[in-house]
Amino acid sequence: MAERTWETSKVCYCEHVMGEVALEAEVLYPMDFLPDPPRVLSHRCSHGLECNQFAKAACVWAGTNPNYDPFRP
Ligand code: SF4
Repeated sequence: MAERTWETSKVCYCEHVMGEVALEAEVLYPMDFLPDPPRVLSHRCSHGLECNQFAKAACVWAGTNPNYDPFRP
């Protein structure tokens, strides 16, 4: 059976929460007998839901500011 799991792909300091947060990737692993490689389905910030509740714009991962991405160097 295929398996979906969330894995940390990057960690950075975010000024909005004044702490470290993780960029997480949802990875789909195929069934054992299939030769397909794992596939990344989506990404999220570990604090994205909380930041989405802020009254002011946060970042692209909170869905409130498409021009700011703390994970981008
Ligand atoms: S959602 Fe954006 S602003 Fe909020 S902690 Fe994550 S990176 Fe920082």
